[in-house]
Amino acid sequence: MDTSSMTIKELSDSFKRGDVSSVVVTETFIEKIKKNKLNAVVTLSEDLALTQAKISDERIRAGDNNRLLGIPGIIKDNIMVEGIGSTAGSVILKDYISSYDATVINNLKKDGSIILGKSNMDEFAMGSSTEMSIFGATKNPYDSSRVAGGSSGGSAVAVAADLSMFALGSETGGSVRQPASFCNVVGLKPTYGSVSRYGLMSMASSLDQIGVLAKSVEDVEDVFSIISGKDAKDSTSSNYTFIKKEEAISGLKIGIPKEYFTEGIDKKIETRIRETIDKISDLGAEIREVSLPHTNYAIPVYYIIMSSEVSSNMSRYDGLRYGINNESKDIIDSYFKNRGVGFGPEVKRRIMLGTYCLSSGYNDAYYKKALKVKSLIKSDFTNTFKDVDIIITPVSPTLPFKMGDRVDDPLSMYLSDIFTVTANLAEIPAISVPCGMIDNLPVGIQIIGQPFQENRIIQAAKNIEKIWKQ
Ligand code: GLN
Repeated sequence: MDTSSMTIKELSDSFKRGDVSSVVVTETFIEKIKKNKLNAVVTLSEDLALTQAKISDERIRAGDNNRLLGIPGIIKDNIMVEGIGSTAGSVILKDYISSYDATVINNLKKDGSIILGKSNMDEFAMGSSTEMSIFGATKNPYDSSRVAGGSSGGSAVAVAADLSMFALGSETGGSVRQPASFCNVVGLKPTYGSVSRYGLMSMASSLDQIGVLAKSVEDVEDVFSIISGKDAKDSTSSNYTFIKKEEAISGLKIGIPKEYFTEGIDKKIETRIRETIDKISDLGAEIREVSLPHTNYAIPVYYIIMSSEVSSNMSRYDGLRYGINNESKDIIDSYFKNRGVGFGPEVKRRIMLGTYCLSSGYNDAYYKKALKVKSLIKSDFTNTFKDVDIIITPVSPTLPFKMGDRVDDPLSMYLSDIFTVTANLAEIPAISVPCGMIDNLPVGIQIIGQPFQENRIIQAAKNIEKIWKQ
């Protein structure tokens, strides 16, 4: 069965009709993963997947009607799946096997979804290209000399190359939306607190969220409805229930922030986004120019807060609890051996930056000041949402770039995140939707919403995805 143009609902309906079984579909995906050359999937959980598929088929025959029953998905390698390796793309965790399920995995398993395996990522989710992984780079399905985006590049490619019906990724500053845009798939970064982080390896805890990637907005909605909600194991998760409700785009007030169309953005992308906005206006939406005046500070503020929290979160990889070397003469030697060899250059760079920002004497000048500017960025959005319902912007200032172009230039890599970090800093939901191709490469458009209004951005995204879909 060719699943490449099927939605989750269509596949689920064909299970119910008995046209195909989950076992057969799961086997087909496993074969495709084995043959694929894009380096998207790093661990295949074949036994688990086939066992789950058999059980799901029995449940389908017994009349169970769950949306994800029998539907295969792939999980970013920084999310725990019991009994399966979770490396986060790092040498320091190369032999680590998860001892428990993340809450999102628990929810997926309960609903009956199949876990095919784990997807490639930048080490500990630090990056924008999925080039910094012990497994090597993931390749863009539209041009294998180009990057997939990152850090959830493996998840985006798994969906784009039809190796899975959906994938989970993680977001700290754009790691779901940017690869989604680079690979022509949909990517949702939920409101901070709407999805449990229990079982997600922490990068920067105040910004991290698990997100969803899939071929269509409807598929993303289906997965989000299963993984979201309050979790007693994550005190930062909110009392939130996602309610799906249709909403027309006509009459919706849409803000276009002028700060997101400055120099630095590829002119062809700007033109495509503006053309799309015109088409949205033709559908009856009311378009208004708005201003988010603190946008310029987003990248510096993000890199201070993120690296400060990274330096603290990475301290658990100390060679005692997690590590690779136990032949050291003393504890200091052990730190040097484990962390020196175990972490790659980007992780080390961020630990050093963050440790500096948090050190006594600098803490107030950097971390605390950055938190104050973070609140200003958040108030920019709160104020703007008094006048508009959603905000539309580009996702990335560039098309997928060439492999190797930015790995040695961290600042240019950091600038890839210029339009995405703001939603993480403001703790609000945002979705990237495919917006056709430019020079045979995909481009995405971003829809940003108010806290816990995932439904509104999802409904708008459903209208926008039709615009460029062939
Ligand atoms: N690319 C950004 C970074 O390198 C975002 C990463 C993420 O969202 N996990 O920090």
